[in-house]
Amino acid sequence: MSDCIFCKIINGEIPSAKVYEDEHVVAFLDISQVTKGHTLVIPKVHKENVYDLTPEIAGKVFEVVPKIANSIKKQFQPEGLNLLNNNGKIAGQTVFHYHLHLIPRYGKGDGFG
Ligand code: 5GP
Ligand code: ZN
Repeated sequence: MSDCIFCKIINGEIPSAKVYEDEHVVAFLDISQVTKGHTLVIPKVHKENVYDLTPEIAGKVFEVVPKIANSIKKQFQPEGLNLLNNNGKIAGQTVFHYHLHLIPRYGKGDGFG
């Protein structure tokens, strides 16, 4: 989609700090990290939100989540990690290209929750 920020990140029109990329999926640091290492995982194909995903695309996204979670764990050594996905404006979705937040947790006062 031509006016989608995340499609522009995928095709390199907008720079991002990519931490993972394969044929189907890209992961990059959130521009406004709620905690250190806050990462977004997205499918390369433009799908608006969870309602729009096919099982195959959902599978491709979740297939790489353990790998990315473990690399966040190794690099940032958080005490825990939240997975979060907002669907629809009322639920807090601001970018309408499906994305899964990986939010490392460091304890009380870490900025999230
Ligand atoms: P949502 O609120 O839709 O669940 O999350 C959208 C996320 O995308 C936000 O956390 C926001 O900081 C992030 N974001 C928005 N624009 C950009 C951008 O241009 N680059 C990166 N890396 N993250 C972005
Ligand atoms: Zn898109």
